[in-house]
Amino acid sequence: MITLISEFINLFFPKVCLSCNSRLQKKEHILCSRCKKKIDFFTDCCLICGSEKDNNTCHTCETSNFYFDRARSVFRFNKTIQNLIHNLKYNEITSLAKFLGDYCVKYLTEYRPFEKIDIITPVPLHKVKKRARGFNQAEIVAREIARKKEFKYIPNLIKRKKFTNTQTKLSKFERIKNVSNAFKINHKYPLKNKNILLIDDVFTTGSTVNAVSKLLKNNNVNKIYVLTIARA
Ligand SMILES: [Zn+2]
Ligand SMILES: [Zn+2]
Repeated sequence: MITLISEFINLFFPKVCLSCNSRLQKKEHILCSRCKKKIDFFTDCCLICGSEKDNNTCHTCETSNFYFDRARSVFRFNKTIQNLIHNLKYNEITSLAKFLGDYCVKYLTEYRPFEKIDIITPVPLHKVKKRARGFNQAEIVAREIARKKEFKYIPNLIKRKKFTNTQTKLSKFERIKNVSNAFKINHKYPLKNKNILLIDDVFTTGSTVNAVSKLLKNNNVNKIYVLTIARA
């Protein structure tokens, strides 16, 4: 019955590629095969922050201090990834979260960028923003990864106490200021000596994940790893 209904829906509302909007062929899912060829794992990166590297580390890591131990992004940012992340942010498409979660899992399994992970948690949205949007895109991807990798998933480990405006138009310094003291920890969960994997959608300057990492480090966690879908 369900297949009948979905076939019926497909007939009148054909599925389109979430990047280029072209009509999907029978075996295509989320992306058309042309767009799918445009997304690629970002592996040749700085061993600390995961950005474009000069040597083993990048120029930024030589001068700035990150509180996380390692950060990686699954994809380099390009138009296709940008379209997918935009869709993930503004339309709750469970199949897209699953699709991206699958790539995250594949990346973690193939490249093993981190050691043992005890807890996986998303970078939180402020409750006002979450209410307006209806969901937190990092949360649904984190949940997908947790389910497949059997990590302990704690969605409310970190809370956003300060409403921060979008960081898009801010300079690096303004971003750091904007997110400092924006988060607090839910002390219900013991964190001592735990390895934490933090999930976010995009790594731009790293100021958001760094603010969360600083807070976690002050709470005696062992290692902090960051995984984002893309690197701006
Ligand atoms: Zn396409
Ligand atoms: Zn770096």
